[in-house]
Amino acid sequence: MNAIDSPDMNRDSMLERIRTRTEPWDIIVIGGGATGAGIAVDAATREFDVLLVEREDFGKATSSRSTKLVHGGVRYLEQGNVSLVMDALKERGLMRQNAPHLVHDLAFVVPNYSWWEAPFYGIGMKVYDLLAGKYGFGKSRILSREETLERLPNIQTEGLRGGVMYYDGQFDDSRLLIHLIMTAAEYGATVANYAEVTEILKGEDGFVDRVTILDRESGERFTAHGKIIVNATGIFTDQVRRLCDSEIEGMVAPSQGIHLVFERSFLRG
Ligand SMILES: Cc1cc2nc3c(=O)[nH]c(=O)nc-3n(C[C@H](O)[C@H](O)[C@H](O)COP(=O)(O)OP(=O)(O)OC[C@H]3O[C@@H](n4cnc5c(N)ncnc54)[C@H](O)[C@@H]3O)c2cc1C
Repeated sequence: MNAIDSPDMNRDSMLERIRTRTEPWDIIVIGGGATGAGIAVDAATREFDVLLVEREDFGKATSSRSTKLVHGGVRYLEQGNVSLVMDALKERGLMRQNAPHLVHDLAFVVPNYSWWEAPFYGIGMKVYDLLAGKYGFGKSRILSREETLERLPNIQTEGLRGGVMYYDGQFDDSRLLIHLIMTAAEYGATVANYAEVTEILKGEDGFVDRVTILDRESGERFTAHGKIIVNATGIFTDQVRRLCDSEIEGMVAPSQGIHLVFERSFLRG
């Protein structure tokens, strides 16, 4: 039986566990994105009693809207941050090992128009391959002009000298997240979607020790006590921090990036 069919993934029984729980949870995780799901798996597999609540559907926010790349941070290599790249390459490999149905290799081609680009990117990508070691994806290689055009038939041909091909990974972000939530549940975590934390409350000792959870389906409210309460709400972190201290200074700063989506006829390959 797979976990989604298991009675443990049934929302009503999850809410019943919250309703009837008298002991404090070891860990309450607020937010069912990638961060919250990862924390829940980690804690549940170490046999902690975990409650994870998400106010929308799991992964509804940033975690289902990523570029869906599993990369080893090739651009950090240019900055000389080798230990970060090694960590990321290892995680990339572990993701493919643990979820081969959701993570696969993806080839990238960097076209070269200057004489120095082939040796520069070629050597850089070989270092990237070497750092990956046994967690390596496909091997990078230098492409001739013809091979580059074969893979990117619509790019500018004037001045094109060749290209460098290297590999990173691509993954299905929301499916991986749902599988992590299912894994946490399989290991005993209580997980509920459409369950919003509306209050974070302190005990007599001045430390945060409980939250109020609103079931957004029925309007019912629950109080859940926790020994540790983790705010894993990503871009909503400051909103949630202000539930227990409205005066607190914000720590999240906006940044911006763009995705460009092209018709296949414009950029084949
Ligand atoms: C444009 C873009 C592209 C990216 N591309 C990549 C990529 O290719 N590869 C990669 O690895 N990473 C990528 N990332 C980064 C990655 O997507 C994020 O690091 C990750 O999704 C953050 O997850 P999170 O769980 O911290 O936040 P979120 O996914 O935002 O989860 C936070 C959750 O908290 C919930 N929440 C908020 N308030 C409450 C409350 N009061 N009660 C209960 N729940 C609450 C929200 O509903 C939300 O679901 C990208 C990010 C962006 C913005």
